[in-house]
Amino acid sequence: MFPLLLLFLATLVATSQAQGDHIAHQIHLLRPQSGARKDDVPGLSCVSWRLAVETNNMVGWKTVPKECENYVGHYMLGDQYRKDSAVVTNEAYLYAKSLKLGGKGKDVWVFDIDETSLSNLPYYAKHGFGVEQFNHTSSNEWVNTGKAPALPESLKLYKKLLSLGIKVVFLTGRPNDQRTVTTNNLKNAGYHSWEKLILKGSSYSGKTAVVYKSTERRKLERNGYRVVGNIGDQWSDLLGGHSGNRIFKLPDPLYYIS
Ligand SMILES: [Mg+2]
Repeated sequence: MFPLLLLFLATLVATSQAQGDHIAHQIHLLRPQSGARKDDVPGLSCVSWRLAVETNNMVGWKTVPKECENYVGHYMLGDQYRKDSAVVTNEAYLYAKSLKLGGKGKDVWVFDIDETSLSNLPYYAKHGFGVEQFNHTSSNEWVNTGKAPALPESLKLYKKLLSLGIKVVFLTGRPNDQRTVTTNNLKNAGYHSWEKLILKGSSYSGKTAVVYKSTERRKLERNGYRVVGNIGDQWSDLLGGHSGNRIFKLPDPLYYIS
């Protein structure tokens, strides 16, 4: 009887140990996957920061948090930025394809330029991915080279919209004195034709992008255009009224423009 009892107890202990190992193993696996333990997932707070930025919950920020420089750099240079952009432009195309156009050649799609049609990533990659304070001088030097490449997803959308018979209006916060360099840059990047290229005139000096862009869109409507779509990387490209029938927000964790 006694040895049997010993055997039973030994089995019980072994079983509970095995279960204990199993549970400990599961918890160990879950922690890195769920981020349940504080700060266990590198860069998690930067993911939250970017979500707040993209959803316009965080406004008026001047620079990317220093601890997020690597995160933003990896995001912008890696696949994710391009994949996120492709989701936006694919959705925009599906919507555009479904439209019944007016037929008078007055259906237009508004494209922002910087970080929408053209990418300044070569500049920002050298300036801390938005961690550094915005510098007008060095930024203008870059713009004036006219070498900004296209954001490939936007260029693809641009071509598809033209093939559908929708005209394109570029509406940019770049000042009028950058018209020539911007025209040449757009053409070199693959944007060969447009209905209008609207740059920021001196009458808007001191006005926000929201005021400037919504006023210019209202002018388009008054001139008989129908803004069927509007795409930009800043909420100030899209808000303020006369926004267009649908708006499309591209990702941009590099800077904020009000
Ligand atoms: Mg922009």
